[in-house]
Amino acid sequence: MINFIAIEDNYTNDLMELVRALNGRLDKDFDLSLKYEFDGDRMLVSVVLGEENRTYSTEYDVTAKDKMERKRLEKRYLKESIYNAVVNYADVSLPYGCLTGIRPTKLFRELGARARDMFENEFSVSKKKADLVETTVRVQEPVRNDGDGHDVFVFIPFCPTRCAYCSFVSVAIDKQKKLIEPYVNCLLQEIEFLKEVVEKKALKIRTVYVGGGTPTSIPTEYLDKILSALVPFKPFEFTVEAGRPDTINSSVLNVLKKNGVTRISVNPQTFNDATLERIGRRHKAEMVEEVYREAKDDFDVNMDLIAMLPGESLEDFKRTVDKAVELDAENVTVHTLYLKKGSALKVDGYQSVDNDTAEKMVDYAYTALTGAGYVPYYMYRQKYTSGNLENVGYAKPDKICVYNVDIMEEDTSILAAGAAAISKKWDKSINLITRNANFKEPLEYVKHFDTVMERQRAFWLEEE
Ligand code: SF4
Repeated sequence: MINFIAIEDNYTNDLMELVRALNGRLDKDFDLSLKYEFDGDRMLVSVVLGEENRTYSTEYDVTAKDKMERKRLEKRYLKESIYNAVVNYADVSLPYGCLTGIRPTKLFRELGARARDMFENEFSVSKKKADLVETTVRVQEPVRNDGDGHDVFVFIPFCPTRCAYCSFVSVAIDKQKKLIEPYVNCLLQEIEFLKEVVEKKALKIRTVYVGGGTPTSIPTEYLDKILSALVPFKPFEFTVEAGRPDTINSSVLNVLKKNGVTRISVNPQTFNDATLERIGRRHKAEMVEEVYREAKDDFDVNMDLIAMLPGESLEDFKRTVDKAVELDAENVTVHTLYLKKGSALKVDGYQSVDNDTAEKMVDYAYTALTGAGYVPYYMYRQKYTSGNLENVGYAKPDKICVYNVDIMEEDTSILAAGAAAISKKWDKSINLITRNANFKEPLEYVKHFDTVMERQRAFWLEEE
């Protein structure tokens, strides 16, 4: 474990992310102190390690076109210095080297022709992960937004029960029944407003995504009202995160079909019944198969799996991947367990520290899915992911879920409605995103709905 001492604290938070990832791989304790100073556009970084004060010094050129780029370079070089010093001192490595951050594909694209070289030789990303990022960037290219398209996102924060690993804003439906109707009423008003924005500004909508929570957990008549309100956006992709199989039945599927939904998610997470019980999901693996078979002729299906769930061995996870391959869903996203504050597992002190197994699991998923004709098409990383790995979405050729690409690559404006929803405006000319976040908690969203609407009006309709 590294005891991190920074003389300057400008970048401490960012650097701590790397230190935390390294700590997940270290089996000895030592101090690390960081100093840096400037001589014009030269930055001299010194990293001093351990009781023996072993010092690693490197000089970098931080010439930049503006302040923002300069800050980015300084931060990048500090990470590189820390990573290289620790690798030398303690003989560890991380699959993504010194790269932190959620969106490796976005960075890869921004770096242009030198990206591959920089990933491997400057950031020390392993060849395997550099290949994955490069392939993902190439695969998603044909569906990328040309700059004019917009997406619509609607959030429904109710679930049948709360999963043990969940840190999202979502409430168990039995406990919040009274909130559903007022919530849906507010949501419908907000959607109406977004329609006005689309008409007034003649916006082109690419996709509509109804996420959660589990949107299909609310009574069907409410779901019907919400979906009918979304039909006029005329997206080419209309997704509903059905998620939990215990919320899907023939009448729900009929409502989805009637409103022109093109894609749903049916998320097994695991095909192991014992694990499902352990993580607080009230259904059996068999139910996922039944629902999937009922839905697959009418919809493209997204499936989420999670590596490193509590109590699961490599063999358990392999069986789950094999079953997903056998079912042949259009999209399979493989998450690596990450636990944020607020999840029951985190509160209970669960830690998934077996990096070796985590790597074997994601490697197996890659081999099995690409071997079955899937291609990786979007990916992201999170701060507390087991093994400091990643989440990867795989799709059958021509079956990419476009919304997943848009949200990860941040090159599409999003009109968002509901609690915790964040509207985003992307200015292509300067590659800048501005955001408007709604109240996070559903009850707050309903209580302060006037404020929600005021902020939305100001965000979307006031002259820029
Ligand atoms: S279904 Fe998703 S949003 Fe709902 S409790 Fe489980 S993890 Fe959280």
